[in-house]
Amino acid sequence: MHYRDFGKTGLKVSLLGMGCMRLPFKDENDGSKGVNREKAYELIRYAADNGVSYFDTAYGYHATDSEAVLGEALEEGGRRQNVTIVTKQPFGVMSSQGDIRRNLENTLKKLRTDYIDVYLLHCIMQPTWQAIQEREIFKEFEKFKAEGLIRHIGFSYHGQFPTFKEVCEKYPWEMCLIQQNLLDVNREVTEQAIFTAHKNNIAIAIMEPLRGGGLVRAPKAVADIYDSYAVKRGAAEWAFRHLVNYPEIGTIVSGMSTMEQLKENIEMFSKPDMLAGCLSDEEKNIIISAREAYNSIVTIPCTECGYCTPCPYNVDIPGAFRLYNDGQRFNNFDQPKRSYMFTRRGGRGVGECTACGECTPKCPQEINIPKELQTAHKALDGWEE
Ligand code: SF4
Ligand code: SF4
Repeated sequence: MHYRDFGKTGLKVSLLGMGCMRLPFKDENDGSKGVNREKAYELIRYAADNGVSYFDTAYGYHATDSEAVLGEALEEGGRRQNVTIVTKQPFGVMSSQGDIRRNLENTLKKLRTDYIDVYLLHCIMQPTWQAIQEREIFKEFEKFKAEGLIRHIGFSYHGQFPTFKEVCEKYPWEMCLIQQNLLDVNREVTEQAIFTAHKNNIAIAIMEPLRGGGLVRAPKAVADIYDSYAVKRGAAEWAFRHLVNYPEIGTIVSGMSTMEQLKENIEMFSKPDMLAGCLSDEEKNIIISAREAYNSIVTIPCTECGYCTPCPYNVDIPGAFRLYNDGQRFNNFDQPKRSYMFTRRGGRGVGECTACGECTPKCPQEINIPKELQTAHKALDGWEE
């Protein structure tokens, strides 16, 4: 495993970070039944014992259960002392200044720890940024830091670059968590976010390096491009290498749900050449060609972050988009249609959508959710058995 300095925090963190928003479910087809604790403990402990030192969670992940699962897993064997825990509190649960402290105390209890290594203001977006400043949320975080409850202060961001730049310049944050991957270099927060955060001396963690798993399996057009290169690598490795190449990035957070994925990733991030500046000009051109090939395939840009959920009418929004995107990218809708049949039978299909519009403002990707759900439904509906 490679490790990198993490800006002014003084921490050294593993280049591969473990995201705890995609822990294994009890029922892999129905996340509402909760996390499979035994499998999740096994994954987290394996990661901690095999070089991963950065663990990312949040107040709301897994219906507010992720922090507890992480805390329970790391408590055994004193692993907690050897790792960096980063968690987040969203503005949406900060109704009063007292709430902010209560939420942190609850988080500390769930994580079974006396301190959080880096505490993030979760998911700053353009619409909340003004209110965050007016409420002087930073000052509450600074009190926690002075009391030793948190050691460093940061933020995670979803949105466009101009507000991101303003956020970076407004406060001496110690770290930020931003979405980047080989498809989004010029999209949303853009590659400029990496350079801007670095210029402002803010350590950088990357989320969605594989676009919610979408970059793991390359469609034929992309696979052909990767296969044209002398060194044979899987699509996930190309996507990771694209990010590893940036010296400004401290860690790349991947949400791993199976032992197979975790082991593969640890092995990949332990290769001697997984270093900043690892890409040759030829490899950079391969990635540019792959991006163009991906972009030529029409998909809905859902990262499956889950911020739009729960839908009051029980529609499985990210699930419908995932199935649609899988069908598009692999040019085969058989399996997605079959899976969607079960979604429909479970009362979670797009047919339940009333177009109430409650979900759309919550989407960091600015997807017109009711409209795109209909696109997905049209492509996915019709399978019976
Ligand atoms: S618009 Fe449809 S999917 Fe969105 S919250 Fe309303 S019912 Fe649910
Ligand atoms: S539709 Fe938007 S908010 Fe909902 S899961 Fe996808 S990206 Fe996230």
